Amino acid sequence: MKIMTPGPTMVSEEVRKARALPCTNPDLDMEFFKEYKTLCDEIAQLLHTTSNVYLLSGEGILGLEAAVASLCEKDDRILVISNGIFGRGFKDFVEIYGGKAIVYEADPKRGIDVSKLEAYLKEDHDFKFATVVHCDTPSGVLNPIQDICPLLKRYGIMSVVDSVSAMFAVEVFQDAWDIDILLGGSQKAMSVPPGLTIASVSDAAIQSMQKRSTPIASFYCNLLNFLDYDKKQSFPYTMPISDIYGLKASIDEIRHDNKRYERHQMIANACRKALCAYGLTMYLEDDYSPSLSVFEVPQGIQSDMILKTMIEDHRIMIAGCFDVLKDKVLRIGHMGYNANVNDVRMTLRALDETLRKLNFKGSCDMEAEFMKHIA
Ligand SMILES: *Cc1c(COP(=O)(O)O)cnc(C)c1O
Repeated sequence: MKIMTPGPTMVSEEVRKARALPCTNPDLDMEFFKEYKTLCDEIAQLLHTTSNVYLLSGEGILGLEAAVASLCEKDDRILVISNGIFGRGFKDFVEIYGGKAIVYEADPKRGIDVSKLEAYLKEDHDFKFATVVHCDTPSGVLNPIQDICPLLKRYGIMSVVDSVSAMFAVEVFQDAWDIDILLGGSQKAMSVPPGLTIASVSDAAIQSMQKRSTPIASFYCNLLNFLDYDKKQSFPYTMPISDIYGLKASIDEIRHDNKRYERHQMIANACRKALCAYGLTMYLEDDYSPSLSVFEVPQGIQSDMILKTMIEDHRIMIAGCFDVLKDKVLRIGHMGYNANVNDVRMTLRALDETLRKLNFKGSCDMEAEFMKHIA
């Protein structure tokens, strides 16, 4: 089966082999500390940052919760910037940790309009930090964090960025973009099985955590527990060594993949053009993430029938959606290992055949249309 969902993605053979390497005791083996530190430094380099990179044992959601748990104190006002389901979801974490979430709700069909956000901040900017999602995966919208985070910083507001489904599909410049906590997840554009969060934490964010008047109400989500792990040669809990070996193999691939970001962009553009030429409608009006394509379920056809036929006839899995977009859109993931012409091409051919079987009259050969836009 081909897994063409917007995470988890397919996993390369190198990553799978690395996960089968012999294990050491990660708490006692000094070699492992060195390898972990080197891996974190390589990730920092790819994110263009001097921040503190930590690998947390837990799927991407752990990073979102850890950032909020570590920064938020009772009654802190937190700005939740939302134009999608993950964006809005931060409100729950803020409230769990006693903060006051003020939700800034924006058009779900395009990226955040920075000038409107600026007008809002002129009136109210008394926030300890703001949360924003880089690519909100249910809709596939890509937010301009390169403009949002520096704007927040001008108002003295720290930023927490959920880049789980964009990191390494889109190049991120954490320091130049003034991002305080940048979060990634192993199962998205890194194409490692689910299990790890990448958290890159600025010194300013660490200082803010250290200045808290109340303790962080969690152990597992307390980012300060990772502070100076390399000098102390001690992790807060035993590291998932096979997951980390898998991540290391993936980061090696990413470091040597010179055309990575252009390829993601090219495949996303070609995929979108093919879907539209065929007669399908994209969910978004603008600001498409290069990591996935999201299109509306054609009228008169059940989303489940499309997904089921794709699997039964073609052994290809794409994704529907959830929450307010349940049964409304379909999603093709083309991030990380899935950002290769052959797999996307086969997926579009299968989708074309599936839709025709379900009596949708496509206006072109979707695969051929896709290939027209591949250099
Ligand atoms: C995948 C993802 C996460 C992690 O969530 P899961 O649903 O548990 O995989 C967090 N944020 C975004 C934007 C994601 O795409």
